[in-house]
This record gives sequence, structure tokens and C-alpha cells, in this order.
Amino acid sequence: MATLHKYDAVVVGAGGAGLWASLELARAGVNCAVLTKLYPTRSHTGTAQGGIAAALGNMEEDHPDWHMYDTVKGGDYLVDQDAAEILADEAILTVVELEHMGLPFDRTPEGKIEQRRFGGHTKPDPANPGKRIPVMRSCKSSDRTGHMILQTLYQQNVKHETTFFNEFQVLDLIIEGDECRGCIAVEIATGEIHIFHAKAVILATGGFGKIFKVTSNAHSLTGDLVAIAYRRGIPLEDMEFFQFHPTGVYEKGILISEAARGEGGILFNAHGERFMERQAPSMKELAPRDMISRFIFEEVRAGNGVGPHKDAVWLDVRPETINRYKSAPGGKQVTAHDLERALPDILEFVRLYEGFEPMKEMFLIQPTAHYAMGGIPTDLNGRVLRNEKNEVVKGLYAAGECACVSVHGGNRLGTNSLIDILVFGRRSGLDAERYLRETAWSDISPKADELAISQLEGLLHATGKESVAAIRKQMQLTMDQKVGVFRTGEDMKQAISVINDLREAYQNVSIMDKGKKFNTDLLEALELGYLLDLAYVTATSALNRTESRGAHAREDYPNRDDVNWLKHTFAFQSAGGVEFRYKPVTITKYQPQERKY
Ligand SMILES: Cc1cc2nc3c(=O)[nH]c(=O)nc-3n(C[C@H](O)[C@H](O)[C@H](O)COP(=O)(O)OP(=O)(O)OC[C@H]3O[C@@H](n4cnc5c(N)ncnc54)[C@H](O)[C@@H]3O)c2cc1C
Repeated sequence: MATLHKYDAVVVGAGGAGLWASLELARAGVNCAVLTKLYPTRSHTGTAQGGIAAALGNMEEDHPDWHMYDTVKGGDYLVDQDAAEILADEAILTVVELEHMGLPFDRTPEGKIEQRRFGGHTKPDPANPGKRIPVMRSCKSSDRTGHMILQTLYQQNVKHETTFFNEFQVLDLIIEGDECRGCIAVEIATGEIHIFHAKAVILATGGFGKIFKVTSNAHSLTGDLVAIAYRRGIPLEDMEFFQFHPTGVYEKGILISEAARGEGGILFNAHGERFMERQAPSMKELAPRDMISRFIFEEVRAGNGVGPHKDAVWLDVRPETINRYKSAPGGKQVTAHDLERALPDILEFVRLYEGFEPMKEMFLIQPTAHYAMGGIPTDLNGRVLRNEKNEVVKGLYAAGECACVSVHGGNRLGTNSLIDILVFGRRSGLDAERYLRETAWSDISPKADELAISQLEGLLHATGKESVAAIRKQMQLTMDQKVGVFRTGEDMKQAISVINDLREAYQNVSIMDKGKKFNTDLLEALELGYLLDLAYVTATSALNRTESRGAHAREDYPNRDDVNWLKHTFAFQSAGGVEFRYKPVTITKYQPQERKY
């Protein structure tokens, strides 16, 4: 028998997006529960190093309008500009509020929040009218910014007495007609099923980088609620846009934050050439991520790669290099001590995972699958859209990396996710609070937990011969090889065919652990099902978009095609696979232009 709970609102996920949403609800006195499959402070938000964008202008002149412009251009004009304007404007009060909550930001000598440069964040170049150069916009706490955000928001939630259900994994949503009425979860410690009856549910379950093998994403990032929403008839927006971060640890994919380049780090090819000078003369190493990842691939293809398989390039953060090239902010001279202070964890990662001494030698890097620009479509208040006509699922919200509002369009700028999750996490919490006040309770079906239970029982008792690990490995390798930084129609067709086979094989998986308690074998099998669905939607959406834009780079369609493709993809589950519909991009201040840096 399942245990029944009743809360006005349930938040699924305790990363930055979920914790700010729940904080708004708790402060308003709403009876709210947070369900999270991880202990809250283990959410992926805690691994974010580089920082959080806000045009505070503490170090040099800056304006929210410039931040909005960079976000729109960085996203290759697929960004909804009303959302980008909100992001840039509300970034400032969000960072100030975090500071008031006690987040220990780095400080300037005068005591203001210190900021650093990050890719694609710019200001006009006073020396070259019409050109733009890097601006210091990223607020940070050394290279542990996400950790500090998560701890601060968790503390605030504890203070405001939010109820947490830690290590509860959500398995299904209760959606009746066009209304969400709660969700179903399994308590990982006991295997017991819980039904959460709620007037509003906010999804904040993060990304799904685990569809790829080489990724910066944590093991838990399996896109559970993105896939569950899709299975429940909700479309997924712009899934073809997946970001590859240029600088992952060689072959492992662990992230070397862009902060390393923000502090002056330089990329070199096998000939010691600083190739970014040729590729992006104004922004160099601080061009946006989609571009740098492509340039690295081009170097490797041209035979200019380094490393055991000549498939990497060098990142150099040695003080003497930074000083020789005057690549630190403002061209200032830096010492090893300055870099150890600015990048302690990053330097440690290089020592630990690569075995290089970054103060004395260059180290190998390679692009790594990093961030989902696409996800569950929402309006500006986080309300989940059930179609391209902006009709909503009542009582259902989504915020953070699982959602697509869309502020990142075809490519996200560094430091813009942390601010996105908090700005739109808050807006979701505030709007849900309004919705709760205006809405009466609806009943839920006595069979609300039927599907979740049958899925779990089905996997527990399955006797098929297919292995979860083998299917996952093949899916990840296929996505790496065929739906990566550069794409072709032929490759993607092959990927879709392999994924289809794997989805069939998945019907015959069985697991070893037949127990109830902490059955991670079972949960991993479930998560593989989500990943397969999301890999499938990603690959089919990518094949469908016959142009190159942002992170979606097709060799058979190398140009951006605004005439036919300046529109969002909405992918719906259908009997034949995926049905595509489209939604126009909201353009307010900035008309699409060619993207040069
Ligand atoms: C290594 C790394 C470094 C990064 N650095 C930066 C940076 O410097 N600046 C920046 O702007 N962005 C950065 N990003 C991106 C950014 O950190 C993430 O996009 C963002 O933190 C996502 O936050 P979130 O709240 O949406 O989800 P997450 O923080 O990922 O939290 C997801 C939550 O959902 C819960 N959950 C998931 N599935 C279920 C389920 N089925 N049932 C119950 N709970 C569930 C999890 O328990 C977790 O609490 C980085 C990302 C990575 C991977």
C-alpha cells in the first residue's frame, strides 16, 4: 500500500532552481514539500565553479541591456528576448539577495562583490567603435560558487521550515486532463511507494548529460522528469541544442571551468599556435563555447591536435604565459599565488585527474557534453506549456536546466545557468503561490500510482537477457560519435537506428538485485529508460533541423537559415516516434545578425 501525502505544493529537485522556488513558497507560509533523489546539497548546482552572471558593474561599466544583448547573440538569436530581458534585469536583485542571505562572495578591496570575465560576456571596445571586448560580469566565490549557492539556499529553507523528503525518487506525474495534481515517488531506503497529492508541482530536476559518455555531468543527471513529462504528453522544446564545453579533462570529461580562461588561460595547438587569435580576434579564448568547441575539433582534424591520440589541445594557465600574452583581465601581471586563490579546485582537478602540474606545464583538454539548452517548455512564470500555442498544464511548473524558457536559445553563455535557475526558480515559486490561492483542490484517481508500480514491478521481476550497463554504454558512445559537436544527416540517421534498437533491447533487460532497500540497480534501470527517450528525441530533433545554429552544427547544412528555422522545435511523443511542431521566437530589441566575435 502506498502512503498518501497532501501538500499545497511539491517541488521536485533540490538544486538551485528547486530551492529558490521552495523558499518563496515557504516564506509565503505555503505547506510545501521538496522531493529529491539526492541529499539536497549533493545536487549538481553544487559543482558549479565559474560564477553567476549579473551586470553589477562593480569592476567596470556594465548594464543589464548589455547582458541581455550578449545572451541573445550568444544563443544565436533563438533566445526569447522577453525572457532574456527578465534574466538580465532580475539578475541584479537576485545576486544582491543572495549576498543578503549570507553568501560569501569574493570582494574587491572596497568591499564590493568581485567579478570576473567569462565567455561571450562583452562591452563596447572604446578603442574600436563597433567592436566588443570581454567584460567582468561573473560574480563568484573563488571557484566554488555553486557550492556556496546551494548551501546558502538550503540553510534558508531550513530556517523557513520547508519539509524535505530526501532520497525520494519521483517516478510519475499525476496529470488529469490539463491539470497536474501531484506525483508518485519511491522512498529509496525502503522501496515504499508514496503518493503526493498537491495543487501545484514544480519540476526542477536538472539536466541529462548522461545521454553522452564524455560529459561534465554527475551520474544523477538522467533527465527523469523531462522524460516523464514527455511520456505524459508534454512536448520538449529545442532538444537538438546540447552544449559541448570546450575544456573537459582529457578523455574523462570532468569540467575545467571557463574561469581558467577568464583568469587569462590560453589555448594552444600542436604547433604552439594560439589558434583562437585567428578564429575570434576580439574575444579569443573568451568567445562562446559552441564556437571554441568547433575550433578545437577543426584543429584536431587539421592534424594540429596533441595528446596520445592527437585529439586534444593544450590549455596553458602558467603565470609566465599569461603575463607574456597579457591575457589576464586588464592585462595585469599575475602570480602563481593569484591563480591559486582564483582557481583552487580547478588547479587541483588538473593535478588529480590529469597528473599535470598546471603552474609549471600545459595540460590536455577536450570538449565535453555539458548542458541541455532544451527541455520542458515554460512561459515567463515557469508554467509548463502543453503545446506550441502557449496553452499551459494547470498547476505544473518547471525551472532550471530541465526547463526551456528559452533564455539560452541555441547556445548558453557561461554563468548564465546559475542565474537562470535562480531567477526562474523564484518566478515559478511566486506564480505557484498565486495559483494555490486561486485554486480549489481536485481529487486524484485511486489508481494514480498504477503505472509507477507496474514499471517497478516489471523491472524487478523481469527475466530478459539484456544488460542495463551494456545498453547505456552503447547509447552513450553512439551519441558521442554521431550526435556530437559536428553532425551530419547520415550520422544522425545511424544514431536513431541504433537508439531504436537499444530501446527495443531495453524491453528485455533484467536486474540482479531483487530487493526493496536501496535498490540502485532498479533505479539505474529506470533511469536508462529516461535517457533512451531523451537521446532519441535529441537525435531526431537534430536530424529534423536542417541548418546550423548555436551548438547545433551540421556539416551538410553549414549555414544558419533564418528564413526557415528562426523558430523553436516542439517535439511531441507520437505513435510513429516524434511529431514536430514549431513556435515563433520572441524578438523585441535585437534583430538577428551574423554572429562574429
Ligand atoms: C561541473 C559543472 C560546472 C558548472 N559550472 C557552472 C557555472 O560556473 N556557472 C553556471 O552558470 N552554470 C554552471 N553549470 C551549469 C549549472 O550548474 C546547472 O545547469 C544548474 O546548476 C542546474 O541546476 P538545477 O537546479 O536545474 O538542477 P540540479 O542542481 O542539477 O538539481 C537537480 C535536482 O533534481 C533532483 N532530481 C532529479 N531527478 C529526480 C527524481 N526523479 N526524483 C526526485 N528528485 C530528482 C536531484 O536530486 C537534484 O536535487 C555547471 C554545470 C556542471 C555540470
